[in-house]
Amino acid sequence: MSENTLSPELIDRLRNAQSVAALTGSGISAESGVPTFRDAQTGLWSQFRPEDLATPDAFLRNPQLVWDWYAWRRELVGKAAPNAGHQALVELEELLPKFTLITQNVDGLHQRAGSRQVIELHGSILRTKCFDENVPVDVPPESDARPPRCPRCGAYVRPDVVWFGEMLPREALDAAFIASRACDVFLSIGTSTLVEPAASLPFGARGGGAAVIEINPNPTPLSEHADFVLRGSAAEVLPLLARVLREA
Ligand code: NAD
Repeated sequence: MSENTLSPELIDRLRNAQSVAALTGSGISAESGVPTFRDAQTGLWSQFRPEDLATPDAFLRNPQLVWDWYAWRRELVGKAAPNAGHQALVELEELLPKFTLITQNVDGLHQRAGSRQVIELHGSILRTKCFDENVPVDVPPESDARPPRCPRCGAYVRPDVVWFGEMLPREALDAAFIASRACDVFLSIGTSTLVEPAASLPFGARGGGAAVIEINPNPTPLSEHADFVLRGSAAEVLPLLARVLREA
């Protein structure tokens, strides 16, 4: 894909945008070597489905299994580096009058790339919280328990992520909906738009009059509703958008 594949209309909408919102999903981190959920799981954990590990019931049934799965993912993410897609979004934040980055990812790669304001809809695997009290707690460095115990109340410590069947953090979700309804351009990047309520954000943006641009190598349920569809990888397409703005 080259800059020539961007239509003049898309370039015009982007250059004239006062406010842009971007929603990212696990596809943006795929090129950093972090597997998406819906791609085949690899290695040790290929025999498990995320839906069987990322739930409160699964944790209560087998806390060590779930803790170890997250420890494995944390290690994987620790070894991964942000890619050109994450970096282009840092540039968009610098170049645009208003830019809101909303992510479903839990890998912290946007922050490591340098994005300053990130709305995390699904939490972060880099943080932990108390299973019972639902408040952030740090794992004592000397602890090798799997999972460790909360230093305040003795309950299990769990990853600070939103599991299947759990509510999203209210403040983050409200901020995401407000930014989506108010933007002129909405970018849907590397997300299958199957997981609610994030999947509704582009429709909120359309309702508010925004142009919706999808960036994904594969079709999704959003594709037929998007104003522009860029069939390429995030690391390939996002730098082109950043260049359009740089050269405006
Ligand atoms: P998903 O797995 O449902 O969909 C990934 C999408 O990314 C697909 O549509 C796929 O076509 C697309 N994709 C694949 N490679 C791409 C690339 N190089 N560039 C652009 N797009 C690409 O992921 P989802 O929509 O984010 O939803 C699944 C849930 O899984 C999310 O809630 C998220 O919290 C969680 N998750 C997060 C991570 C992470 O933090 N990196 C990883 C796996 C799962």
